[in-house]
Amino acid sequence: MNFAYSQWIINPSSESIDFLKSQGVKAIETGPEFMLGHSETEIKAIVKNFSMAGIQFYSIHAPFTGEMDLSQINTEKRTKTIAVFKEFINRVAIAKIKCVVIHPGSVQNNDEESRLDKLRLSIETLLSIAEKSGVKLALENMPPGHVGDLSSTVMGIVNEFDSPFFGVCLDTGHANIGKENVLTAFENMRDKIIAFHFHDNDGVRDIHLQPPYGTINWTVLAKEIAKYEFDFPALVEAQPWNNASPGQLLKEVEAIFAR
Ligand SMILES: [Zn+2]
Repeated sequence: MNFAYSQWIINPSSESIDFLKSQGVKAIETGPEFMLGHSETEIKAIVKNFSMAGIQFYSIHAPFTGEMDLSQINTEKRTKTIAVFKEFINRVAIAKIKCVVIHPGSVQNNDEESRLDKLRLSIETLLSIAEKSGVKLALENMPPGHVGDLSSTVMGIVNEFDSPFFGVCLDTGHANIGKENVLTAFENMRDKIIAFHFHDNDGVRDIHLQPPYGTINWTVLAKEIAKYEFDFPALVEAQPWNNASPGQLLKEVEAIFAR
């Protein structure tokens, strides 16, 4: 299994790219600012510079903060969000990035059913754009209290659409603080996983610790995941433990999966 390193805000300087290369980083996932904060020409040039250093972008995180919520009830705001996502997906396609990770929604107030209906409408529009541009959408399981905080909910939505361009992102940290354990979430989501967010925590807070420094039983989980073929780099969505180097983080996570 291959792993990607998390750089939420892209640093396109040659020093930074050289550093990541020297650390053995072969793939990174970055946040939405990369697509929305740069011109198309800049995006292409940055992807090319990383690729020349042997670093690929497999997935990128879609916007989710503020009013960027695909399941919000307010039609006007949701329409604006969809417009941003359309532009985002178009740029992702230009950059030849294969997968966009999306959140089903923000915090819910006992209104998940109606929020999921709005999410379905948003997905309907965005999936047709994604399919045309050859970009896959990965719906992520959320921390408890958010729309989509159960693997069954996320899988339900994805299965309704039944598209090769629509799958799920298993977020281990979110599952570990949720109502189901990580292993159950993996079993439920397995057939549709097109992205991983590997991180750990204390079982209570979504604190994005590097595996295996929290309460997830990585020995069992890694053994289970290793039974299946996943042909994309799995993102370690955490900073190196104890301010160690990216290379050290990758070495430790690789060791978990090599057992
Ligand atoms: Zn995540």
